[in-house]
Amino acid sequence: MSLICVLRRAALLFGSQEIASYKSDGEILRYSYTEFYERVKRLGSALRGLGVGEADVVGTLAWNTHRHLELYYAVPCMGAVLHTLNLRLSKREIGYILNHADDKIVFVDEDQYAAFAELGRHDLRCVIMGEDQTEHRSGVASYEKLLENGQQGFEFPDSLDENAPAFLLYTSGTTGPPKGVIHSHRSVFIAGLALCLPQFFNLTDRDVVLLQVPLFHAVGWFLPFSSMIAGAKIVLPGPHPTPQRLAELIEGERVTVTAGAPTVWINFLNHLNKTRNYDISSLKRVIVGGASLTPAILNEFEELGVEVVHAWGMTEGPAAVVNWLKRDIDGNEEEVRRVKLKQGIPVPGIEVKVVDQEGNELPRDGKSVGELLFRGAWVIDSYFKDPERTAQSFCGGWLRTGDAATIDEKGYIQIVDRYKDLIRSGGEWISSVDLENLIMSHPAVLEAAVVGVPHEVWQERPLAFVVLKGDYVNKIGKAEIIDHLRERVAKWQLPDEIIFVESIPKTGTGKFDKKALREMYKNYFIERSTKSQQP
Ligand code: ADP
Repeated sequence: MSLICVLRRAALLFGSQEIASYKSDGEILRYSYTEFYERVKRLGSALRGLGVGEADVVGTLAWNTHRHLELYYAVPCMGAVLHTLNLRLSKREIGYILNHADDKIVFVDEDQYAAFAELGRHDLRCVIMGEDQTEHRSGVASYEKLLENGQQGFEFPDSLDENAPAFLLYTSGTTGPPKGVIHSHRSVFIAGLALCLPQFFNLTDRDVVLLQVPLFHAVGWFLPFSSMIAGAKIVLPGPHPTPQRLAELIEGERVTVTAGAPTVWINFLNHLNKTRNYDISSLKRVIVGGASLTPAILNEFEELGVEVVHAWGMTEGPAAVVNWLKRDIDGNEEEVRRVKLKQGIPVPGIEVKVVDQEGNELPRDGKSVGELLFRGAWVIDSYFKDPERTAQSFCGGWLRTGDAATIDEKGYIQIVDRYKDLIRSGGEWISSVDLENLIMSHPAVLEAAVVGVPHEVWQERPLAFVVLKGDYVNKIGKAEIIDHLRERVAKWQLPDEIIFVESIPKTGTGKFDKKALREMYKNYFIERSTKSQQP
């Protein structure tokens, strides 16, 4: 089960299939799986030439381009480990991760080079990827030149162990520095294969897959492998993807399947609504994960005739739970909708359970809320070089997710919230996710994040941050939002304040950065009560 098998089979069976990649100069590069395979082999030999050996770590600081996809295959297939650095992380975090991972060499996109140079890691070899192929910086190689010097006819070793490490990723730690996660060839292979099933990503060689999930995030939810296992056409959105670019690529390349975080689709749908001039009729299916699918995204895509598939996972085990409607979900429209908004059922190879604080398994009744635990073929069983946090995070071989969840009689998992995001008000819990989804179901609202902020009397109270759609700015106030919620939640759950903002801070993976919001507003109620007490 090494990734070499995926690569060889793809070239052999689907050699004429196309890969289209948006370049920094605005052009689209097109080539076939056969040409891709040739370049990947050349790259493998060039890496050897640079002294990269088995289990060496090769970093990338790059967008979703054909070159990054080539590295996705070449590095693991020659026995080294691909370490995809999240280019949205801070200089400090990237510096820490590079040290911890002990990268030998880093492949950097042209526009990321300045940020990389600022790290001052002159000891690290760097290869620049871009359209400008001149070697203008001393000590820095160009990707295309490197490939030219690669050996034609190079073959990847047949002897590669399926348990060899293939990918190294880091996940943002809530406490302490980022944690390293390693996925082997075997786990990536099994995940890639399982996700091709009709119930999940449902891919064949008739599909056109837009790889929107950043390749630096959670192995791109394995779509780079599922797509090639299926023999699908692959489209890469290039540097700095925008909603406009995604819409143009979907229309121009006749994309059938894509995937991404809710915030990506919120802004994409908003762009479609504003412009109303794209033909996205080819799009059959959008996989939404990384944070909760909102009812608004589900509705709008369904109105466009696009099927929405909700998925849940972690860097430690990406795309582990995917939603599809089992036979035993009855045809009742309301139930179907309720089930579609849940995170889904475990993909074959994955097991889940919810437990109470003592670790006892809770009933699968759709009501008992506990911590979600999971294990399986592509869930890690330890953190890279971190025995302490391995000991904290695993319990009898199960990974503790930090997510509060229920599992119902039919096996559907619903994430109530992350434990750290639940709001504790007067001894009761309020789900920030529920409030966000309700606020975002108001037609004037583009994005909403809700956090618990310390309160003298109630311990914590919810504060809501709301971004209005362009046409509604200054036309909608707190009263409208609260009235909208009042019909739907208990009075004590209503946010104490609605703060209108231009944008909500996002984490490196595009989720609402609630940690940052909590930190910024931690004195909000204390300051307010002090002010109100002043004469
Ligand atoms: P980070 O901790 O940096 O966000 P991950 O991408 O590994 O890194 O995040 C995993 C977490 O994302 C999960 O534990 C869960 O809280 C959240 N998550 C992922 N998918 C979903 C989903 N479909 N619905 C709700 N939460 C999700």
